[in-house]
Amino acid sequence: MSRVYNFSAGPSVLPESVLTKAAAEMLDYEGSGQSVMEMSHRSKVYDSIIKEAERLLREIMQIPDNYKVLFLQGGASSQFAMVPMNLMTKNGKADYILTGQWATKAFKEASRYGDAVAVASSKDKTFSYIPKVDKSAFRPDADYVHICMNNTIYGTVYHELPDTGDVPLVADISSCILSKPIDVSKFALLYAGAQKNMAPAGLTVVIVREDFIGNAMDITPTMFNYKTHADNDSMFNTPPCYTIYIAKLVLEWIKNEVGGLEKMQEINEKKAALLYDFLDNSKLFKGTVVPEDRSLMNVPFVTGNEELDAKFVKEATAAGFVNLKGHRTVGGMRASIYNAMPVEGVEKLVAFMKDFEEKNS
Ligand SMILES: *Cc1c(COP(=O)(O)O)cnc(C)c1O
Repeated sequence: MSRVYNFSAGPSVLPESVLTKAAAEMLDYEGSGQSVMEMSHRSKVYDSIIKEAERLLREIMQIPDNYKVLFLQGGASSQFAMVPMNLMTKNGKADYILTGQWATKAFKEASRYGDAVAVASSKDKTFSYIPKVDKSAFRPDADYVHICMNNTIYGTVYHELPDTGDVPLVADISSCILSKPIDVSKFALLYAGAQKNMAPAGLTVVIVREDFIGNAMDITPTMFNYKTHADNDSMFNTPPCYTIYIAKLVLEWIKNEVGGLEKMQEINEKKAALLYDFLDNSKLFKGTVVPEDRSLMNVPFVTGNEELDAKFVKEATAAGFVNLKGHRTVGGMRASIYNAMPVEGVEKLVAFMKDFEEKNS
């Protein structure tokens, strides 16, 4: 068996020990005589899986008791509608910061349901930085401010949260959840598609403060109402059972093998530093993001020459470094170095880039 180093932005690499465990349990989960794929979501054995997944997420992220954890479907993209339908309901206003494609999609969707305003944007420079916004930029009567914490396509991240004053903060944390500790209490709501740092595709995690549940617009479909899922422990309908099971294994990996989120952050910082240090000193490659807003998870870079970019991607793929092509809207390359990418994968990629640089400059 030969596994590649997979730098995909999502769905993305999973820890090898998680895949091995899932394979070992495929035909017979803990003596149940069934695969987790096959069992009833109402069974006792499955109930212990979903409960343990939630318990581990709460423990690892230190989620306060007055927050609900919801396991939903529909991707982060469904949250672009669910957030306004459930939260833009006091004054019908919400402020958005546009830091890339996902934030912009969230804003456009919210605009369908109320008075959404884009209070800042970094589109002028291809979203290569995080706009610095102070409290006065936000409408004091906005129901919430929405940010995209880590911008998967452009490779920027909020190292510091914007000060929104008394306006509740909502964040899309799809591509940085579990990458380092985060103070959940600073947010009204956090959401994440699981396929970047948690599990395969099919699961969306929502962490929402209890007092933001139960005020949905009348037009809200039952399935889009947080209350529906909060009242039914994410079991109103069939949840994405198998994906939740893999998420549980990933959480066990973070807790037991990595040693928690502080440790995870250390490893992620080490990996990112390896790559950024190389880019900063390279004669051929350069990063596309301002240094102070660089993501720990997604690292876009270019050679400045499209043909050379294509040659690099082709040769890297042949050498076992796959999915390095940049997003179609940015070009160049992007290395997504999520939690499950081992340090060794980044070290080897950097060695490969050095070699490519010597041969091509
Ligand atoms: C991938 C991604 C999305 C879209 O997620 P889906 O689950 O495909 O809807 C939204 N926001 C961010 C930050 C992402 O990285």
